[in-house]
This record gives sequence, structure tokens and C-alpha cells, in this order.
Amino acid sequence: MKIFAIGLNYASHNEEMKSVFVSEEPVIFMKPDTALLKNGKPFFLPDFSNEIHYETEIVIKISRLGKNIAERFAHRYYQEITVGIDFTARDLQRRLKQQGLPWEIAKSFDNSAPVGNFISKDKFPDMQDIDFHLDINGKTVQKGNTAEMIFSVNKIIAYISKFFTLKIGDLIFTGTPAGIGPVAINDHIEGYIEDEKLLDFSIK
Ligand code: MG
Repeated sequence: MKIFAIGLNYASHNEEMKSVFVSEEPVIFMKPDTALLKNGKPFFLPDFSNEIHYETEIVIKISRLGKNIAERFAHRYYQEITVGIDFTARDLQRRLKQQGLPWEIAKSFDNSAPVGNFISKDKFPDMQDIDFHLDINGKTVQKGNTAEMIFSVNKIIAYISKFFTLKIGDLIFTGTPAGIGPVAINDHIEGYIEDEKLLDFSIK
């Protein structure tokens, strides 16, 4: 299975990243299957970074094989969603960006993609109007609504499938809103879609 992630998909986050980069098309990167962290397993802080940031994101799971999917049919290619974290080694990413190099080691390391329990998208009348948030140690640190996405889920699916065949079980992290920040040892991480807690794990 493949894990795709979208960069810079919320204007509020782009502002906090001081990104002047404006794209007519989604920014895509990938994480390997070894990045997946699920079932509430703990995340162990890696020794290669002193600045691991959470990025809370809506994650969709592909439910049907597809290539060159038209935007108007894209909604048929996923059935379940959850909330996940796009863990980022911000110190490494900053250095690599400055050097104009690819970001993989900053974004795609082992366990850098925790995901919560998946729920049916049918619970939500409008995919582009879903609240989500992250609590750390019981305090809300980041919240967003999918209405704020620059590129909608259906646009993202159409775009990715031009280049990559989407297969059942592939995941797409759809970007983070403003409010990213660091995690520390013993933090308790809880991710919600609307009022439902789907993600729950600890930093070790
Ligand atoms: Mg992200």
C-alpha cells in the first residue's frame, strides 16, 4: 500500500510556514508503508531530530482501483476517513529545504504516519465541511475544517491518479491547518473528527 500526503493545502498553515509558494496544483509527497502507526501504538521520539512536529490531517482510504479518475467521480473511490498525524522532523526539513533537497528523511521515517480508526464518510453530509481537532494532554492544540482546504479531496484524488494508480487500501493525508507544534516525551495525543475520538496514543 501507498501513503500520499498533500503539502500546503490550508492557507492558514501556509501563512504560519511563511510559505510564499503558490501552486496551481496540489503538492504531493509520499511515505512508505513502514511509516504507518496504528492501533494506538506509542510513537518513540527518534534520535535524529530535536524537533518532531505534529500536523493533524484528515486521512482518506482508497476503496477502489483507479487511474486517471475524473474529479466528478472521485467520491466513488473512497468510503472511509479518519484523522492522522503527518509527523515531521522540522529541523531536518528546514535544512533540506534550504539546500533545495528532497524532504523524505524529514517526513517519511518509520512511524511518521499515525492513523486513527476509520469511519464511514456517509456519516458526513459534506466532505468539505468536517471539523477535526487534536488534543495534547487534554488541551486542544490544533483544529480545522475541511472547508478550508485549498484543493478538495476529489481534486486531490483526480490529481494523484494522473500519475499513480490508486489501489484499495492506499491512504491520502490531505494537509494540515494552522496550529502545528512540537511533541515531547510522555505527551498524550488524541485526534477527533467532530466529537468522535478516533486517534489515541502516547509519545515515548
Ligand atoms: Mg502535512
